[in-house]
Amino acid sequence: MSHDPNCVFCKIIAGQIPSRKAYEDDDLLAFHDINPWAPVHVLIVPKQHVAGLSDLAPAHEQWLGKMLLLAPQLMRDNGVNNGFRTVINTGQDGGQEVYHLHMHVFGGPRPWVKG
Ligand code: 5GP
Ligand code: ZN
Repeated sequence: MSHDPNCVFCKIIAGQIPSRKAYEDDDLLAFHDINPWAPVHVLIVPKQHVAGLSDLAPAHEQWLGKMLLLAPQLMRDNGVNNGFRTVINTGQDGGQEVYHLHMHVFGGPRPWVKG
């Protein structure tokens, strides 16, 4: 499994940096964002390192389906019952800060910090 020793999310996946886990299976990890924008703000990441959407190969197609299917389940598990927002930032102009593919899932009562 590909692991980038300089990547903060790879370190979270490896347990080298602590996180508040929301879900885990063989392919994916979900954990609560350290700097939440909304009452519930979870990040869903593939366990294998890939920098972002632009770096995905056809073999990774199933991750995207799993990530999207996990979002409503995670929101339900965290008591979100009035809708949620999903965001994937890609590259510099897309506002991506951590170069390990991740989907933000925001939910909970507004107002939110931003978003
Ligand atoms: P991006 O701007 O790349 O889409 O979002 C990166 C997100 O990762 C930010 O919302 C940021 O708060 C979150 N983040 C960065 N470092 C850590 C960390 O060490 N732990 C957790 N839980 N979240 C992090
Ligand atoms: Zn990584």
